[in-house]
Amino acid sequence: MRILLASSEVYPYSKTGGLADMVGALGKALARKGHEVGIVTPLYAGVRKRFPTLTPLRQPLDLPLGTGLATAQVYCLRPAERLTIYFVDQPRFFERPGLYQENGRDYPDNAERFIFFSKAVAQLVLALPSKLDLLHLHDWQPGLAAVLLKDELKRAGQGSGPRICVTIHNLAFQGVFPADKFPLTNLPWDFFTPDGVEFYKQLNCLKAAMVYSDVITTVEIMTEELGCGLDGLLRKRHSALYGILNGVDYEEWNPMSDPALSSPFSVDDLGAKAANKLALQEEFNLPPRADIPLFGNVGRLAEQKGVDILLRALEETAELNFQFVLLGSGETRFEQAYEDLARRFPGRIAVKIGFDEALSHRIEAGSDFFLMPSRFEPCGLNQMYGLRYGAIPIVRTTGGLDDTVIDIKEDAEHANGIKFIEYSSKALAKGIRKALALYGEPPLLAYYRKNAMKADFSWERTTTEYLKVYQGNATADP
Ligand code: ADP
Repeated sequence: MRILLASSEVYPYSKTGGLADMVGALGKALARKGHEVGIVTPLYAGVRKRFPTLTPLRQPLDLPLGTGLATAQVYCLRPAERLTIYFVDQPRFFERPGLYQENGRDYPDNAERFIFFSKAVAQLVLALPSKLDLLHLHDWQPGLAAVLLKDELKRAGQGSGPRICVTIHNLAFQGVFPADKFPLTNLPWDFFTPDGVEFYKQLNCLKAAMVYSDVITTVEIMTEELGCGLDGLLRKRHSALYGILNGVDYEEWNPMSDPALSSPFSVDDLGAKAANKLALQEEFNLPPRADIPLFGNVGRLAEQKGVDILLRALEETAELNFQFVLLGSGETRFEQAYEDLARRFPGRIAVKIGFDEALSHRIEAGSDFFLMPSRFEPCGLNQMYGLRYGAIPIVRTTGGLDDTVIDIKEDAEHANGIKFIEYSSKALAKGIRKALALYGEPPLLAYYRKNAMKADFSWERTTTEYLKVYQGNATADP
């Protein structure tokens, strides 16, 4: 098939979270299976410098944007056979320090930026020399491309165009903007209705994708109500809705060949994992002690991730003997609270505020336990990385965390993590205590670690499921 993925972030070119990892890995996996794959994404600051072999498409795309006009120059990169990355260049929108925000504040022109990106996606589909079979949109940022493309094809009398699939990675982000941004789409107002792109008198980019795509997928197995105001639409589109759990790119996340680690290790050689722990303790200026259990956490510092209960649980367990390291960035109040905690508990709690891909690998490799107390987590990748790197996940039973981690109470033979149910610091602190008890029983700890490292969430299964959805051969979720 000829497939074009559209995403506002793609690893290794740009990343703020799991979306980038997923799209980068899906593109590679589909190309490896023999499909002709493109990925369209913005050209952010610094990409050109890191990838100097970008070549421009001959014809730039001139796009109307309300009463104005903006040009998208598209640059191509071929990182692998059958895989092309299309970077949409418009310095006014994308040459900035952040992808979506700076200092915790969304860019005020995000509507313009991503309406422009969606237009570039739709026009690229029409400009590509060969006809596309499938356009796969990810999250709200390219969402309007679904309606823009359908409208354009209809007006040009050009038939139905490619099948369109949208994947919802996080229903909490929908790209909702005031109605006065709608004219930037240059679509007729007929589309601005509750059956179209309107959502309580506002423009909703994710809704646009959900209404106008042929098929919708989420990255979780849909056992719970998904919500966030779009339940009605999800119910209405039930027959076109599928849940597909993300996979892990084990080429990027392999403790045996990870360039970020000084001591590679495997399930059969856990001695080197201990060396990674000592190196991590040193990197964070903690006493390098093999006997003290080390807990790690990496992630966006946002309410969704359970930051408030983790901060409180760390206070509540202050008398216990363990170390904690954190790498994260996000809301200023959370960044400050962690820095404050580290000042109050030197030698026990250490934090780095920022985004650092290599360090995130070293935390998974060096930690004994990986904490993920999310309030909600559609899929979550960090717990799966933790499993592969032998950092036993401590997770709340929500979404993908519940689907991928096995507690001893569920299945003693395959137990690979610790789960707690209630969203409270007390329940999380109990999880931490359980982890400390486990640490006190080395043979059981080793058993958990082996189970964890052997858990397999490879892309093979995920790719096969996406292909079924692309080809219309999948069965909708019950
Ligand atoms: P989400 O996509 O909701 O942020 P996931 O667990 O699915 O959560 O994915 C998060 C990804 O982003 C992981 O690869 C994680 O390591 C990475 N990540 C998040 N914050 C940071 C950070 N501050 N530095 C490095 N990597 C980070």
